[in-house]
Amino acid sequence: MTKTTLLAALLATALATPAFGQGRPVPPGQPAVAADVARLRDSALKDDVAYDIIEGLTTEVGPRPGGSPAEARARAWAVAKLTALGFKNVHIETTQMDTWQRGKETGEVISPFPQPLRLTALGGSGATPPDGLTAEIVYFANFNALLAAPVGSLTGKIAFVTNAMVATQDGSSYGAFGSARFVGPNIAAMKGAAAIIIRSIGSDHGRGPHAGQTNFAKGVTPIPAAALSVSDADNLERMVRRGKPIMIKLVLTPKRIGMQETGNVIAEVPGSDPSAGIILVGGHLDSWDLGTGALDDGAGIAITAAAAKRLLDGPAPRRTIRVVWFGDEETGGSGAAAYFSAHKNDHHVLVAESDFGADRVWRVEFRLPDAAKPVGDRVAAALAPLGIVRGTATGGDGADIALLVKDGVAAINLNQSGTRYFDYHHTPEDTLERVDPEQLRQNVAAWTAMLAVVANAPEEIAKIPPTTGK
Ligand code: ZN
Ligand code: ZN
Repeated sequence: MTKTTLLAALLATALATPAFGQGRPVPPGQPAVAADVARLRDSALKDDVAYDIIEGLTTEVGPRPGGSPAEARARAWAVAKLTALGFKNVHIETTQMDTWQRGKETGEVISPFPQPLRLTALGGSGATPPDGLTAEIVYFANFNALLAAPVGSLTGKIAFVTNAMVATQDGSSYGAFGSARFVGPNIAAMKGAAAIIIRSIGSDHGRGPHAGQTNFAKGVTPIPAAALSVSDADNLERMVRRGKPIMIKLVLTPKRIGMQETGNVIAEVPGSDPSAGIILVGGHLDSWDLGTGALDDGAGIAITAAAAKRLLDGPAPRRTIRVVWFGDEETGGSGAAAYFSAHKNDHHVLVAESDFGADRVWRVEFRLPDAAKPVGDRVAAALAPLGIVRGTATGGDGADIALLVKDGVAAINLNQSGTRYFDYHHTPEDTLERVDPEQLRQNVAAWTAMLAVVANAPEEIAKIPPTTGK
């Protein structure tokens, strides 16, 4: 079908079938939703492309840590997939990354209550001797307690830092409790600890530990650092309450393997007006290695590509939609850094990232220049029938788009429900079974509606000073 006949067919359908939301009164202060936007949004509620991408990637590639041969296979898979879907300018841009590789990892309580512990080394962890390290633990009820420990008080000991993380819809508990993982090992190392174990940064109560990156400051020698499963950490905490010294043996043999190749996969829906700029959407292609990266971030790359595909299949949008599947988000963001250095002078007008699983979008937030505020109003109106509220905070979240946002590019957040996300985040349970196809389709519909409005908006979307846009 040519574009013209397709357009005619679409118009006929639009005229024959009232779009979702038509006939409903438009809430005061909200613009009406254009019929073509409503039609694209509602047909996306039947999308199967996003699920197909996650199913294919998790089945045919599986875990794909940054810098690994599996991540390279994922890039090749992505090029084949995006090409088959009909995207233009599909290609890989590679870069190098300093790579950490998981080794053997076991833990056990030696005394007073001998039993095995389920744990996983944190990315960037140092190694124990090959036959392990046995030491007494020092218990900290939270990250602040570790911070308060006197320098030298941990010499020769294993710090054990627990937490009380609970699930939150907006995911804010990750920021509140994540410090124990992000910087806890560095703090423990500076205070002389031989090693550190933390309660996983998760909201489940299972025995699957949550992996994730930790970072040591320059000049601080990395110590062995591992996350216990939430269940194992709670068991260990009960042992602590019994008041006897606890000896633990850890065997962690990760190593750094130097500079390896990573890269971004890029694909486009060409716009009809080259002067109108580029909308960048995407997520990250790499994943942690315990699960298959279905939620983190197979879902994000699938949702954004499936939405872009819906515009690809219709009349060309005014603006180019560029889909970027970033490499190495998890351990250092080399993909995002390489993209920014290669493309910072491309005419990006708006960026949006999906990296919070596959559950439904519940809130939209904007970071737009004043002249483009009506664009945000129209996006919010188009999303309202999907049960999405407009938030009051400024959009622009996401590690892979952070450099562009800092550079002043406008941004939109489509925030997903986080109530289940940290049950599975970075665990062996991050697999296809956690993806709810209905909620995934709601995501595709939201992204499709957002793209349909923004990519065709007649307004100019100029850069904004980093702190003022909303
Ligand atoms: Zn992620
Ligand atoms: Zn992640």
